[in-house]
Amino acid sequence: MPANFRAELVACFGQPVAENPTGAMQEAAFRALGLNWRYLTVEVTPERLADAIRGVRAFGMRGVNLTIPHKVAVIPLLDEIARDAAVIGAVNTVRREGDRLIGENTDGKGFLRGVRVDAGVDPKGKRAIVLGAGGASRAIVTELALAGVSDLVVVNRSVEHAWHMAEELSAKTNREIQCQPWRGVYRVPGDTDILVNATSIGLFPDVDGMPPVDLRDAKSTLLVCDAVFNPPETRLLAAARRRGLPVLDGLSMLVYQGVIGFKLWTGEDAPEDVMKNALREALGIER
Ligand code: NDP
Repeated sequence: MPANFRAELVACFGQPVAENPTGAMQEAAFRALGLNWRYLTVEVTPERLADAIRGVRAFGMRGVNLTIPHKVAVIPLLDEIARDAAVIGAVNTVRREGDRLIGENTDGKGFLRGVRVDAGVDPKGKRAIVLGAGGASRAIVTELALAGVSDLVVVNRSVEHAWHMAEELSAKTNREIQCQPWRGVYRVPGDTDILVNATSIGLFPDVDGMPPVDLRDAKSTLLVCDAVFNPPETRLLAAARRRGLPVLDGLSMLVYQGVIGFKLWTGEDAPEDVMKNALREALGIER
């Protein structure tokens, strides 16, 4: 067989991006499957994003991940936007099909996969409450709505953020999404099945941060999820565990968004355990 030293390229564009651990898990997956692919973690300023996307086309790159601050700004630079990414209004993954660049969003899908696979819960017909109304919340709320939850409530400090998001996503997903202001301590209703912290409370270095929620009415099957992955054991999850409630950490969402991205780019099933372990190692978390 003739030699082929040409690698397929994917990348993450963001600013700041140096601490983004996604490359470690994607590179580990490429190695595990013997693929000659490289994942580059590249700092791209907002003014250079259009040039960077031209570079993706010029280099024939297979795709990119977008992180802060590019998830919305990249949309007009692409040729097509997948349905859920269009509903969410943000793209975290781009894949190339021929000469066309297609925008996808795997954040919410990664979360849902964690709910189904790691927690063993089918969200269909369940009552869900999502804390926060930022980018992570938009992705999670969209996918929960599309997955057919029976009740969906967004609870947020700035009620106008929650209200705008709920109104827009209700119209786009054809599901009723309610919203509530978050004043003082929020007492989670006893009939809730899934509670998600999609705020940045508890994110390093605010590791002592705890979303002001009261779990005293929680039923024993309430699944408590956190989008925060650093640290993976947040105070919210620790409090839920003390009550004997099932929990799902933010690493699950992070790994599965990468697992879904890997499949979109390479067409191969991702080696999930390899990716989980590489991510834990990159973040310095004991197995
Ligand atoms: P945004 O900045 O877009 O949104 C932050 C949200 O948190 C807002 O709703 C904000 O409320 C709320 N919030 C922040 N501080 C407080 C506070 N002290 N009290 C009450 N509410 C507060 O952030 P993202 O949505 O991008 O990220 C949210 C979290 O999700 C981060 O921790 C991020 O690391 C994580 N994440 C995890 C991913 C994963 O794969 N696991 C993927 C993406 C994000 P308000 O509207 O009132 O300002």
